[in-house]
Amino acid sequence: MSDTQIVWLRRDLRMADNPALYEAAKRGPVIAVYVLDDDRASTHAYGGASRWWLHHSLESLQRSFAQRHAKIVLRCGDAVEQLLQIAAETSAITIHANRHFEPWWRNAEKALGEKIDLQRYDDANFLTVMGSIKTGSGGQYKIYTPFSRAVRSQFPPRDILPEPESLSSPESLPVSDALEDWNLLPTKPDWAGGMRDFWNVGEAAAHERLDWWETHVDDYDDKRNHPSVEKTSRLSPHLHFGEITPVQIWHKLKHKRSKGWDTYESELIWRDYAQNTVAQFPLYARSNYREDFDQIQWRNPETDPQAARDLKKWQQGRTGYPIVDAGMRELWQTGWMHNRVRMITASFLIKHLLIDWRHGEQWFWDTLVDADYASNATNWQWTAGTGVDSNMFVRIMAPLSQSEKFDAAAYIRKFVPELAGLDEPYIHDPEDHGCLPKSYPPKMISHKAARERALAAYRAMKGD
Ligand SMILES: Cc1cc2nc3c(=O)[nH]c(=O)nc-3n(C[C@H](O)[C@H](O)[C@H](O)COP(=O)(O)OP(=O)(O)OC[C@H]3O[C@@H](n4cnc5c(N)ncnc54)[C@H](O)[C@@H]3O)c2cc1C
Repeated sequence: MSDTQIVWLRRDLRMADNPALYEAAKRGPVIAVYVLDDDRASTHAYGGASRWWLHHSLESLQRSFAQRHAKIVLRCGDAVEQLLQIAAETSAITIHANRHFEPWWRNAEKALGEKIDLQRYDDANFLTVMGSIKTGSGGQYKIYTPFSRAVRSQFPPRDILPEPESLSSPESLPVSDALEDWNLLPTKPDWAGGMRDFWNVGEAAAHERLDWWETHVDDYDDKRNHPSVEKTSRLSPHLHFGEITPVQIWHKLKHKRSKGWDTYESELIWRDYAQNTVAQFPLYARSNYREDFDQIQWRNPETDPQAARDLKKWQQGRTGYPIVDAGMRELWQTGWMHNRVRMITASFLIKHLLIDWRHGEQWFWDTLVDADYASNATNWQWTAGTGVDSNMFVRIMAPLSQSEKFDAAAYIRKFVPELAGLDEPYIHDPEDHGCLPKSYPPKMISHKAARERALAAYRAMKGD
């Protein structure tokens, strides 16, 4: 009889193209385990929106396992202890895991590997094997453009793995929590209605979305910056939870010869780049890469009541800047925000409100369904100008002209109903055009004043 194999599931909630599951299933009966371990992740335990997604994603994978007469064991607590306990209960001697790079998972993998045979699979969730893309001198890339060139020179990525040919369970399984008992879904109040309308969760839904995307990707280059139209893939939460892999996406779309596909491939490489950055700097979500920014005089919502009120207005989408408010409300309603608008809202918090990017990173962490330690931190540090590869702090985005440039009128009408009656160009800046509805707030601060304040803070940091 073959030995029982444990598969440790985390952000790889799929049957196909899952190296850990595939290899384990070849060796013997499988016990697939998911451990909800909030303490390890600490400040980056899943926020509300991610918990909602996780519930539905696990539910969907449970159904896929049940179709194959198999089950997922759910446990709550310290992941290492729970896995070792299950191994002891079942006499399993090997745990299979797709490698993860969040600092808390790296620590857990190290601790587990010291106690039991841990088979790790390096290339499960990314286009590249993390750490394998080296500079000419053998170092790690820090800047996106040369990294992406090097990645492309190594394409094609690995082949796709099929679902396991057979999946058997041992005769008796360890006890499992019931998913409902984890209370991942909001109840009082149930704020997830908008997310239910917007998303279909799970591996099958991810592939349906990819089928749709195959017929739209050619327009990506022209339209990806326009939030009023649905011209991006919206695969990010599926990718985050590992319901689909970038390798599956790449192979599905590789026959495309359009500029749209070319640009889309670059965005997928950004995802690898973000992970590659965090693999080198594990605390990237918590500390400025450029340490001189430790000296900038942010307005601190923890000590300054006005800054606290301003942070709240930003979170609630009540800044008086229609494009910013539309984005923040889209996030609240759907758990997702268009990339161009993420850049505008993030820049607004950091530069217009002069609030430390880490407050924004945490808010996005709580509210995005695709909240991802690496992508979130890398993009916030990029916008703030504090990152290893980043936009310069002194480049301050003008939200109102961005709104016009990228045709955001329909987007604003959808998410800011107070402005739904306004035509172009008034809708982008109703205050300036003298048509501010009573129900909509005036701007918190003018663009000019905000710009001057941010530049003064920057000059003071530099000692100029
Ligand atoms: C301040 C800020 C915070 C962000 N936080 C996250 C986050 O927590 N999780 C997350 O997945 N993305 C994050 N992004 C990146 C980007 O906004 C989203 O990946 C994208 O909007 C998801 O929508 P989509 O799937 O339609 O993307 P598409 O435009 O269809 O892109 C395809 C895929 O490429 C990847 N991708 C695209 N842009 C980026 C990027 N700039 N960085 C890294 N990967 C990228 C995503 O996996 C995405 O699904 C953030 C961007 C900003 C500016």
